[in-house]
Order: sequence, then C-alpha cells, then structure tokens
Amino acid sequence: MAFSLACVTGAVYAGAMPVDWLPVAGAAAAVGSLLPDIDEPESKLGRVCVPLALVIKLLVGHRTLTHSALALATVILLPWIWLSGELAIAVSAGVGIGYASHLLGDAMTPQGIQLAWPQPARFSLRWFRTGSAEDHLAFFGLSAASIAAVLSMV
Ligand SMILES: [Zn+2]
Repeated sequence: MAFSLACVTGAVYAGAMPVDWLPVAGAAAAVGSLLPDIDEPESKLGRVCVPLALVIKLLVGHRTLTHSALALATVILLPWIWLSGELAIAVSAGVGIGYASHLLGDAMTPQGIQLAWPQPARFSLRWFRTGSAEDHLAFFGLSAASIAAVLSMV
C-alpha cells in the first residue's frame, strides 16, 4: 500500500495528475493495492471475503489470475461502468496504480507472479523476500517519500 501511495503522490508531484485528484486517486490506489491478494484467505482483503478468497485460491491458486495483466486491465476498465468524466479517470488511475504497484512488489520476490496467466510461466525480479529487511526498508522509505511529497504540496 505504501508503494501505491508513493506512486500516486509521485504522479501528482510530477504534474501527471491534478492535485485535487489526490484524495480520490489515493483512496482508489489503497484499495487497488489490496485487491490482488483476494486469492489468499490470510491476506487483509481475504480475511474480509474468506469464501471468495478460498474459491479463487482453490480454482487458480495464489499469485495467478489476480496477479496477471488481464486482471490489471480489468480493474482499470471497471470504474468506467459506473463512473464518468474526471472521477472515472481519477478512480481508474488510482486503482490501476495501486494494483500495478502490488504486482510489481510481488514480482520482486523469488515466488514472483503469473503475469501472463493462464500461461504458467512466473515473472520474478528476485530482488528480496517478503518480510525481509529490504522489504521493510522499502516500505519505510516509500512511506516517508509519500508523506514528504504530500507535505511539500500543502
Ligand atoms: Zn500479492
């Protein structure tokens, strides 16, 4: 989630996104960063939707369908069914940034993700393990960068 918020604040800071989109896009990014792990009953979102998480995990496994480019494209397009105009753009961009940041974070681990699901090949950058010192350092660094970027815009 910290990475997704850092990406949204970075987009605003770089001028790629209007400042007044920050609350909506930031909230959408926070939700989007949790969505891929709906395939894991022990995840934050999976604990809220245990039956759905169990079904997805049993049918396709962890870090497969919900960690694919297909799922990313779907969550980017879904807001356009219910929303329009700048709100749709802000929500779509935010949820897309959040979702993509989650996929990138998982791709940095040795387990990787099935980015081209249903193709079985896993994509992994093998930079660090989940829960390692590097993982925590990245979390705190990105959180600090996000807070600094937001404060500099106020
Ligand atoms: Zn994940």
